[in-house]
Amino acid sequence: YYKDNTLVFLNGEWLPASEANASLYSQTMHYGNGVFEGIRAYKNELGFNVFKAHEHYQRLLYSAQLMHIDLPYSVEELVSITYELLDRNNLTDAYIRPLVYLGANMSLEPVDEVNVFICAWKWEKYLGTQPVKAKISSYQRIHPAAQHVEAKVVGHYTNSILATTEAKKTGYDEAILLDHDGYVSEGSGANIFIEKNGELFTPSRGNILPGITRSTVIELSRDLGIRVTEKPISKSQLLDADTAFFTGTAAEIAPIGSVDKTIYPLQWEDSLGYNLYQMYRQKVLFNDLQNQTII
Ligand code: PMP
Repeated sequence: YYKDNTLVFLNGEWLPASEANASLYSQTMHYGNGVFEGIRAYKNELGFNVFKAHEHYQRLLYSAQLMHIDLPYSVEELVSITYELLDRNNLTDAYIRPLVYLGANMSLEPVDEVNVFICAWKWEKYLGTQPVKAKISSYQRIHPAAQHVEAKVVGHYTNSILATTEAKKTGYDEAILLDHDGYVSEGSGANIFIEKNGELFTPSRGNILPGITRSTVIELSRDLGIRVTEKPISKSQLLDADTAFFTGTAAEIAPIGSVDKTIYPLQWEDSLGYNLYQMYRQKVLFNDLQNQTII
């Protein structure tokens, strides 16, 4: 993720990654109370575009607020720090990871010391480009009455790690988690869409992280005249689909070739997801032109 000369942003300073340190007594380290984001930048003819940077930082502030963490930066400041981070590291195609972590505190109470760390590195498309073999996880998605599922909280990802590890250990690439009512919720780090009879369906909000890529895919579908419906999706509807795909900043739009023992009949190249992916690749290059940095 970093070399000796990689610069990171930490609490208003630019430091070599190897010199950026955190306390072993951080409440985030012990109890998982911290929030983060995952953002991508794309190289274009003018330099690069940080895709939906404002939306990502708005979600970071929202996640922080739900966890009673006071962030000392505005969305605008965080966006401009991100452009500077990429400029300073000569990065164009990059994955950006802002992390808000707390100071030393072993209590279970809100902590005054709030640290903001932002780093970036070159990261290939998560889950690759080949259709993914997905497994319905034996782990349920975290219950919305127990955690703020709509927030991107550090500790929530132990649920994702358990599901991914189980999937990988049993010969699959990725997990699909069901919610407490047995409906499809999402992947370990991505939302899910299914295609059936030329239409798209995706789980409604409530038991998912409402992804920025998910919203983009819904917008693109409407632009293309594809019907997309947000509704609860049962396990049998998932298995009976023509095909399906994951959406996420890291995974972008990633085809699902099979779920458990069910192989989807529709080829990826013939699917709506494939067409949407071509459109998505165009959109990420220029969507936020007003924030364009010329390098
Ligand atoms: N669900 C979960 C659990 C995630 O971690 C992510 C990645 N942030 C997503 C969905 C997709 O969100 P986005 O499209 O905003 O990256």
